[in-house]
Amino acid sequence: MDKILRINLSGPDGPSIKTDSLGDYAGLGGRAMTSAVVAKEVPPTCHPLSAENKLVIAPGILSGSAAAMSGRMSVGCKSPLTGGIKEANSGGQASQVLARLGYAAIILEGKPAEAALYKVLINQDGATISEDNSLKMLGNYDVVEKIRGEFGEKVSCISIGPAGEMKMAAASIAFSDMEQRPTRHAGRGGVGAVMGAKGVKVIVVDDAGTGVRSPADPEKFKAANKAFVAGLRKHPVTGEGLPAYGTNVLTNVINEAGGYPTNNFAFGQFEGAAKISGETQAELENERGGKGSATHGCHRGCVIRCSGTFYDKNGNFLSKQPEYETVWAHGGNCGIDDIDAIAMLDRLDDDFGLDTIEMGATIGVAMEAGIAKFGDAQAAIDLVKEVGQGTPLGRILGNGAAVTGQVFGIERVPVVKRQAMPAYDPRTVQGIGVTYATSTMGADHTAGYAVATNILGVGGNVDPLKPEGQVELSRTLQISTAAIDSTGMCLFIAFAILDQPDTFQALLDLISGFSGQPLTADDVVALGKSVLKNEREFNAKAGFTAKDDRLPDYFQTEKLPPHDITFAVSDEDLDQVYNF
Ligand code: SF4
Repeated sequence: MDKILRINLSGPDGPSIKTDSLGDYAGLGGRAMTSAVVAKEVPPTCHPLSAENKLVIAPGILSGSAAAMSGRMSVGCKSPLTGGIKEANSGGQASQVLARLGYAAIILEGKPAEAALYKVLINQDGATISEDNSLKMLGNYDVVEKIRGEFGEKVSCISIGPAGEMKMAAASIAFSDMEQRPTRHAGRGGVGAVMGAKGVKVIVVDDAGTGVRSPADPEKFKAANKAFVAGLRKHPVTGEGLPAYGTNVLTNVINEAGGYPTNNFAFGQFEGAAKISGETQAELENERGGKGSATHGCHRGCVIRCSGTFYDKNGNFLSKQPEYETVWAHGGNCGIDDIDAIAMLDRLDDDFGLDTIEMGATIGVAMEAGIAKFGDAQAAIDLVKEVGQGTPLGRILGNGAAVTGQVFGIERVPVVKRQAMPAYDPRTVQGIGVTYATSTMGADHTAGYAVATNILGVGGNVDPLKPEGQVELSRTLQISTAAIDSTGMCLFIAFAILDQPDTFQALLDLISGFSGQPLTADDVVALGKSVLKNEREFNAKAGFTAKDDRLPDYFQTEKLPPHDITFAVSDEDLDQVYNF
């Protein structure tokens, strides 16, 4: 990956394309790349939908190689949801494909003068951009179908749905999977709205004629990859739990721990949890889908294979197997225990191009406001359809939980930096509360997944119900996550590398074998810290202060059943997270 593709949408004669050398960005990938570009090139106080903001799409440093699990893509910009820096990452095929074409990043900059919609094609011959207004307001499924008709079955798509075109703060960017379906999303922070503001509907990536990226030290790389895969296969989470049930294996676990946010974070346990658990979902999928229901990877080279396919009652494809976060957001958080309705909501979100976490949290807030009743699945489906249609109510909901709470006068709005909290209540899982409060991204479980240690006992044990040890845990995880997000590796490898020193060493050897440079654990820590430093500096210049590193007040005053506890990590301790 020795070049950057810059597409400027502002030119007087229409968009222009140029290929840059890497310059200051040499050696960076994934989140390290997106956050470095945004920190250096985007004015922190600019409007997120203005010409000054940039959308950066970057494969990880190992993407496009034969390294297992290396196909994650990072998307960065100034977020329309939080007003701070954003990195949202996704699976799907495009990361491997773009890396094989030699691009370390695509940067969309400027803004078209007219309301035109563009299609970008990137292949071995270079990149072209053309106006294609026939794509206007199409859902992601129709976009991919049209692109397949035009370019064939082997290309990958990076696209936005109507929510992105309407520049909603909950809009995602879809990445097509191995079946060429738009099921994988860079969901968080409204990255789809920034792509919409640039007037780019779809980027088609075609790696025909290219080959796998070669490691500098093939023998070391091959041996490390073998040891790394063996380590993933022997760990109970990456070798058994995730492949068998997908991420939804967590519903029963988190519910039993009393940390499953129910009815807009009013309770820590949901009566209907068993009906929407990973175990129930897997049983149903097997029954309806036969062989096609086997779990699989969301991109080439995944060996954990947590992804699956959800079929409707007639055995027809409805959506991907909904992820735990989605099942929670549209399920327990809204009091809904109907797995078919949840899968329909997942499909609608994917098609309109919406973050499932933000949408589920938003509907929970709307239910608290009396717009619909908790447990009313059809009402939730109707509300998401309003978002896709862009009705006045839909435009409020499509801008997320914070806006919805404000419009309807609701105090209990579970957001940090205006981004909705995911599927773990911070009162019962206090370590994830520290991550929600202090992450540069707003409330984000993937920024430092303390649930692993608090609840699953991975990487040690820290009592989830007590404040002691949570700051140190979250700090360590936020640093290591920022580094993993830069490699292109799926974050789920963390379970195995936290627990198994030999698997962590295999990962170091894998990266070192690929680059030809020595790599130690200290280098990984230094990389993670430098990414976070860039992000913190950007946020500070955008106007964020310590008061933004806090949970909403009610998490400190309202006790959560069944443990009847509040979030107890002090403000002074939260301010120590970035003390490195
Ligand atoms: S483990 Fe799951 S999310 Fe990660 S790369 Fe594989 S299928 Fe995608």
